[in-house]
Amino acid sequence: MRVLLVEDDRMIGDAVHQALKDAAYAVDWVRDGQSAINTLESQTYGLVLLDLGLPKRDGMEVLRSIRGKDNPVPVLVITARDTLEDRIGGLDGGADDYVLKPFEMAELLARMRAVVRRKGGVAGPVLSNGLIFLDPVSKEVTIDAKPTRLSGREFSLLHALMVRPGAILSRADLEDRIYGWNEEVESNAVEFLIHALRKKLGSNAIQNVRGMGWMVSKGN
Ligand code: CA
Repeated sequence: MRVLLVEDDRMIGDAVHQALKDAAYAVDWVRDGQSAINTLESQTYGLVLLDLGLPKRDGMEVLRSIRGKDNPVPVLVITARDTLEDRIGGLDGGADDYVLKPFEMAELLARMRAVVRRKGGVAGPVLSNGLIFLDPVSKEVTIDAKPTRLSGREFSLLHALMVRPGAILSRADLEDRIYGWNEEVESNAVEFLIHALRKKLGSNAIQNVRGMGWMVSKGN
């Protein structure tokens, strides 16, 4: 499979480039956003590995360019945690998964396989674990093919969990994702939202992992 690596950091780029070649991927490496956009206009790839902080045009612009042209190529964003947290809202419609720096090469390769498998070569904005489908753009949620109306906060909480099914988020993780910095948060607000979501989605939709937090199942 052919991969476009978009990364301006020489050390990371070298390491990823080598690891992908060793894993039998065909890799093209570009070091700025404009080159990425140009390359994607003329070439077809099975996957794009996209850094966000790039010279000339940043990763968000590259992503918008890809999706603006209805290019279905799966996009795996590689970025520092700070950058990701700033931009996660903007990534909703376009990126298929995220890998945070620093990462293990084995993890990156596993994520790449998962994204490609999940997408079957077609990227869409809808998040799913096979049971719940959540559309970040239209805010529609369906479970067992039944549409469900959620409040804004309920949607935000479910969205936080659906970004990575199987990942456990603590109460603090969820508060960070649902509430702004200056908002007062009642101490049991997350539990109330979970309770409300379970009433709407079924008690098994969100699992409690005792002492750690909550998750949605990974599905198939
Ligand atoms: Ca960078």
